[in-house]
Formats: sequence, C-alpha cells, structure tokens
Amino acid sequence: MPQMREFFVKTTQQLQVIDITPKVREIVAQDGSDDGLCCVFVPHATAAVAINENADPNIGEDLQDALAKLVPEGIWRHDRIDDNAAAHIKAAILGPSETVPVKKGKLVLGTWQSIMLMEFDGPRERRVIVQITASLEG
Ligand code: ZN
Repeated sequence: MPQMREFFVKTTQQLQVIDITPKVREIVAQDGSDDGLCCVFVPHATAAVAINENADPNIGEDLQDALAKLVPEGIWRHDRIDDNAAAHIKAAILGPSETVPVKKGKLVLGTWQSIMLMEFDGPRERRVIVQITASLEG
C-alpha cells in the first residue's frame, strides 16, 4: 500500500540549496516498491523542490541568484504583512514538489540530476513528505 513518509531538514541560511537525494533514495529503498512514482513535496509557502545538477554546487547558487534577480525584495503588497513576498513568489515559480519515476526499486534520475530543497526564507525547520505510489502493473 502507498505509504507517506517524511523527514525534516534544518536550514541555516535565508537562501539555501540542500541536496535531499540521499534521504529520498533511502526512503525508496525501504519502501520496497519495484516500479512506480515517487513524489517529493514540501508543505511550505516559502520553500520549493527542484531537480537539477549537484555535481557543481555553483548551479544551486546560480539558481538562487537568478531568482533573486527576477524577483526583487521589498516591493510587493505582502511585504507590508510579513516582509517575505519575494520568498513566496520564488517558491510559487519553482513549485512545492517533484515526481520521479521508480524502476526496480530505484529512483530514475539522470547522471547530473539531484533533488534539491530550495530555501527562500530560512533559517527554519522544513518538512519534506515523500509519497511512493506503486505501479498497478507492478
Ligand atoms: Zn509571508
């Protein structure tokens, strides 16, 4: 039966990129499903999940810089409420989840792909939910 798993990540900076691939792989291995889909989701409005390269950690920093250029701080309506509108907008652009195929009990990721937790309003504790749905054809 599909089972929801979760883990927590403590971010340490306002803007941060954290590779959560090892933790997700561990959950997929424990799950025991041969084939299916693995959804990685953060129940947060100022964090996101992205898949991209981790071999060069500059990519994560560049992604944060590119989003910072696209979405300036301090000019939005929501800033009058809690001064973090840019974080909400960046999180909405990237989205709160990614879905990765599972084949023979393993995540099907490209050589250069990693699953990243994108922090836009840290530091704080983030919850990551992993839901694996087994294929009916097994
Ligand atoms: Zn807010």
